[in-house]
Amino acid sequence: MYTLTNPATGDLVEEIPNATDEEVRAAIERVHRGYSSWRRRPVAERARIVARAAELFAERADELAEIMTLEMGKRINEGRGEVGVVVDIFRYYAEHAATLLADEPLALKSGDAVIVKQPIGALLGVMPWNFPCYQVARFVAPNLVLGNTILLKHASICPRSAAAIERVLHDAGVPADVYANVYASSRQIPAILADPRIVGVSLTGSENAGISVAQEAGKHLKKTVLELGGSDPLIVLDSADLDQTVKDTATARMRNCGQSCNAPKRMIVLADLYDDFVDRLSKHVTDFFQPGDPADPATKLPPLASEAAADEVAGQVAKAVEQGATLRAGGRRIERPGAYLEATVLTDVTREMDAYYEEIFGPVVVVFRAETEEEAIEIANDSPFGLGASVWGTDPERLRRVAERIEAGMVYLNRAGGSVADLPFGGIKRSGIGRELGAAGIEEFMNRKAIRL
Ligand code: NDP
Repeated sequence: MYTLTNPATGDLVEEIPNATDEEVRAAIERVHRGYSSWRRRPVAERARIVARAAELFAERADELAEIMTLEMGKRINEGRGEVGVVVDIFRYYAEHAATLLADEPLALKSGDAVIVKQPIGALLGVMPWNFPCYQVARFVAPNLVLGNTILLKHASICPRSAAAIERVLHDAGVPADVYANVYASSRQIPAILADPRIVGVSLTGSENAGISVAQEAGKHLKKTVLELGGSDPLIVLDSADLDQTVKDTATARMRNCGQSCNAPKRMIVLADLYDDFVDRLSKHVTDFFQPGDPADPATKLPPLASEAAADEVAGQVAKAVEQGATLRAGGRRIERPGAYLEATVLTDVTREMDAYYEEIFGPVVVVFRAETEEEAIEIANDSPFGLGASVWGTDPERLRRVAERIEAGMVYLNRAGGSVADLPFGGIKRSGIGRELGAAGIEEFMNRKAIRL
C-alpha cells in the first residue's frame, strides 16, 4: 500500500493500493517497447524535451514543494530549493547533451578507433522519500537524454510526488512508454529484475535495500548503481570566526531535518577548539531549531518523515546515552502531534557504542574530540561508510592535504552537504557503487561502444 500520512499531524491523507503483478508486467512491456523508438530520436530532440521538463519543474515548484511538505514534512522553502536543483539538473543534461554524447576518436598504436555512446535499454529506478524530486532527477535526466527508458518505483510514502513528477515529464513531451511510474511494492522488485526486458537498476536508499536489489540484479547479471547511506565526517581544524562555523555546520547537519545521506553527521573538532565548539553548538541548536509547521516558511525544525523514523532516531539517541554517551542538547521526542524530535548534540561517543558506527538519520550531531590533525583523519576514516566529508579551516593547503586523505567519494572545503548538477555525486565503501550527476552520471547506463576503424 502507498500510504500518505502527514508527519506534522499524524493524519492519514490517502492510501493507494499497490500495482498488481499484471500491471507491473504491462508497465515493463511499455518501457521496453518505448525504447526502440526513443533511442532512435536525435539527441537534440531528446534534449529539447528534457529542457522543456526543466521549465515545467520551475513553473510547478510551489505545487511540488507543497506535496513534499505534506508527504514527508520537508520545510516548504527547502522543498522549493530542492525543485530549483532539479531544474538545474534537467537543464544541465539538456544543455550538455551534445558534448556528453559526442563520439570520442581514439588513436591506437595499430590504427584508429572511435567510442560511440549509446543507451542500453529500459531501466528500473527505486527511489527514497528524503528528496522525493531530486533523487529521481539525478537518475532520470541523464538517462532520458542518453536514450534509455525508465520504470520508476518511488518510496511508498511519496505517491503524490511520484505522480506529479510523471505528469511533468509527460507534459514536457516524454512519451508514456518512455517514463512510467509504477506503485510497485518492494516484494515485486525481484520479478522486475528477473525480467529480461529490464537491463539495469539504480537504487537510492538504505544499505539493506541496496543489498537486496544488488543481489537480485547480480543473479541476472544486470548493471547496478547504488546510492546508499553515509555518516559523513566534518573536521574543524581551526576557525577565524567560531560562531559562524558553528552556525554553518549546524545548518548543514539540520538540513532536511537531518535526513540527508550526505549530511555531516560526525563533527570532529581539534582539541583547542573542542570545548568552546560544543558549548556554542549545543546552545545554538537548542535556541535556533525550534519546532513548527513545515508549511510555515519561518519554521526551523520540521517533523521527521514519519513516526517510525522519529522513534528510530530517538531510540538510537537513548541507546547511546545508555551506553555512556553525554547528551549536550535535545534528545527527546517533542510533546505535540507529529513526528518531532529535538535538535540533539551527543558527545563522548566511543567505538564500543552503536552510535559510533551507525548512521543517525535525523537532527542529531555527534561531536568527537581529536588531539591532532592525524587523529582527526583517523576518526573520519574509521567508518563503514564513505559518501561525503568536509574540512573546515583557514589554511587552504592544510585543507587540501587533509581532504586528500579522507576515504570518501566527495570532500567539500568550508562547506558541507548539498549537491550541484555538474559535480559527480556518490560514495565508496558501504555508501554505494557508481556516480550520479556531472559527466560521470550519464555514463553509468551507457554502452561505450568501441568501433575499430
Ligand atoms: P529504503 O531503503 O527503505 O527505501 C528506499 C527505496 O527502496 C524505497 O522505494 C523502498 O520502497 C525501496 N525498498 C526498500 N526495501 C527494498 C527491498 N528489499 N527491495 C527493493 N526495494 C526496496 O530507504 P529510506 O526510504 O528509508 O531512505 C533512507 C536511507 O536512504 C538512508 O539510509 C539514507 O542515507 C539513504 N539515502 C542515500 C542517499 C544517497 O544518495 N547516497 C540519498 C538518500 C537516502 P518502500 O518505500 O516501498 O519500502
